[in-house]
Amino acid sequence: MAISIHPSVDNGVKKGSASFAGGTLTCNCASAPVTVKLSSQTAYNHVCGCTKCWKPEGALFSMVAVVPRDKLEVTANGNKLRIVDESAAIQRYACKDCGVHMYGRIENKAHPFYGFDFVHTERSKEQGWSAPEFAAFVSSIIESGEPPAQMGAVRSRLKDLGLEPYDCLSPPLMDAIATHVAKSKGVLRA
Ligand SMILES: [Zn+2]
Ligand SMILES: [Zn+2]
Repeated sequence: MAISIHPSVDNGVKKGSASFAGGTLTCNCASAPVTVKLSSQTAYNHVCGCTKCWKPEGALFSMVAVVPRDKLEVTANGNKLRIVDESAAIQRYACKDCGVHMYGRIENKAHPFYGFDFVHTERSKEQGWSAPEFAAFVSSIIESGEPPAQMGAVRSRLKDLGLEPYDCLSPPLMDAIATHVAKSKGVLRA
């Protein structure tokens, strides 16, 4: 049996729709769920092995994408949201009853990803969200208890799914971070 990465990709990565324009994320509560409306398609969707992103029960990886923060609106039961770790660069807003992370927000204007909120589109019933493109922080699943001897099999399963495994972010995102740092130091050559 193939290694389970995340329920949204285990049966193959579904393509996103170019005309898709957003939808609503809902937490896992049976009553009074928190809802978050996204009024745009997401970008940079990927699976992530870090220990901070929210993962569904039993999943090795999370699946996380970004939207511009002005395209995200809490539409119901926002009083149930709490920040998981106030000291983290990304403030992850989770439902205090079911634990699902509804969005992550960066308040530091100097952060390379300021202006983007992090979201888990699997919490939406709508189809057409941007497809995951790569796997980030793959080695970090060991920090959650995955045996190191399994890593070869995990990386080969990710490749089979078309999710190139990286132990940090993808090269375009790492380049974007380094560019931001170089510009803020004033050292970037034209
Ligand atoms: Zn909830
Ligand atoms: Zn992560």
